[in-house]
Amino acid sequence: MAGIRIITEKCCGCGLCVKACPFDAIRIVDKKAVIQDNCTLCGACVSSCKFGAIELVKDEPGKRDDLSAYRGVWVFAEQKDGAVAGVVPELLGEGRKLADQLGEQLSAVLLGDGVEAEARKLISFGADNVYLVEHPLLKQFNDESYADIFTQLISRYKPEIVLLGATTYGRSLGPRVASRLNTGLTADCTKLGIDPERRLLLQTRPAFGGNLMATIICPNHRPQMSTVRPKVMKAPDPDPSRTGEIIRPDVDMPGETRVKVIDTVTTLCEKVSLTEADIVVSGGRGLGDPKNFALVEELADILGGAVGASRAVVDAGWVDYSHQVGQTGKTVGPRVYFACGISGAVQHLAGMSSSDTIIAINKDPDAPIFKVATFGITGDVVEVLKALIAEFRKRLE
Ligand SMILES: Cc1cc2nc3c(=O)[nH]c(=O)nc-3n(C[C@H](O)[C@H](O)[C@H](O)COP(=O)(O)OP(=O)(O)OC[C@H]3O[C@@H](n4cnc5c(N)ncnc54)[C@H](O)[C@@H]3O)c2cc1C
Ligand code: SF4
Ligand code: SF4
Repeated sequence: MAGIRIITEKCCGCGLCVKACPFDAIRIVDKKAVIQDNCTLCGACVSSCKFGAIELVKDEPGKRDDLSAYRGVWVFAEQKDGAVAGVVPELLGEGRKLADQLGEQLSAVLLGDGVEAEARKLISFGADNVYLVEHPLLKQFNDESYADIFTQLISRYKPEIVLLGATTYGRSLGPRVASRLNTGLTADCTKLGIDPERRLLLQTRPAFGGNLMATIICPNHRPQMSTVRPKVMKAPDPDPSRTGEIIRPDVDMPGETRVKVIDTVTTLCEKVSLTEADIVVSGGRGLGDPKNFALVEELADILGGAVGASRAVVDAGWVDYSHQVGQTGKTVGPRVYFACGISGAVQHLAGMSSSDTIIAINKDPDAPIFKVATFGITGDVVEVLKALIAEFRKRLE
């Protein structure tokens, strides 16, 4: 397995490598250099050592894991405050299809404290079994302890495929675990499939600024790991009659961790979660002036929806990045999506095109947004928004 190795007999503890490491990933302990977990294998330290005491060990090209030792599909069931995230049923729905195509079991992995009731829900959404690890230290997500335990479980049970949500937690956990297991990870997948002959996971995601879709495979290493954005896959309806096993594996709890969660602060401006909202009202550059963005917020407020935005207005500083919808923002899948003065660039569509109903307001009848819109209103966005606000107020208040 690739890695950075200190040849301790040659190391005199001079510390030159510590200064050379851009990631602060080397410590001198008992006059010897010690590589830390956050090493990225960049190799910058190798040439800094005048004693030839550091070597970068590379994987042999073409070297493969024993693929036959890996079986089954796993879903990481992230939880917050004891409730599993909305993306988890979506992953279980997709994982079920993959597991059925491979003729394997679908398992969920739930780490937390006092979350057994959630484990049963995971079975109702399609899991055949749940690996449940409960401990007070796992009550809240912590990069280090979660990565440690998840890696232990994968190394022991050897799943063929591991899916995580492309959420803040999943995006932090997935790469750490993949790196420890020396396997690949495809981030932000929008479609998954199986090549049944080679038992390969076909991981499709936008590439080159969203201008083409790339299908990525991981032929030599296991597990095959992917993160999937929330709201891209449809969640199945729960079936409370489903039965499955809850497995409580023994794990070595990590000792002192460097990361400590001191406090969790919810974004105050977010009245309704953008990714969970049934109605999203989004504004773009066509609003013409930052003060007109208030109309978008007003309409969202009346409808009990969340506020979204195009990157153009986020970059212009009209609204916080947390509202950005699209390839480099959030993916939403509401029942109704209002695109107000948004052109419909591919990067924006990547974040909202799975919405059930899209209502677009644009003065240009040829704007690309109309190609994906269910209903289109051609006109001045400020005028149309004012009219919609007045009408919804009349009907709803
Ligand atoms: C790598 C990369 C990642 C990106 N990620 C994202 C992303 O995550 N999200 C995102 O949104 N973009 C993203 N972009 C940017 C994207 O390409 C577009 O530039 C952006 O979406 C445009 O925002 P807009 O539609 O608000 O503005 P514009 O493209 O300028 O469109 C404004 C629209 O408003 C209309 N209009 C103008 N005046 C009026 C009026 N008075 N009434 C009605 N309509 C009017 C115009 O006809 C036009 O269609 C990304 C780009 C790159 C290269
Ligand atoms: S530069 Fe070389 S000899 Fe000096 S501490 Fe680092 S590994 Fe050891
Ligand atoms: S390989 Fe890069 S990150 Fe790792 S210890 Fe050396 S300089 Fe630091």
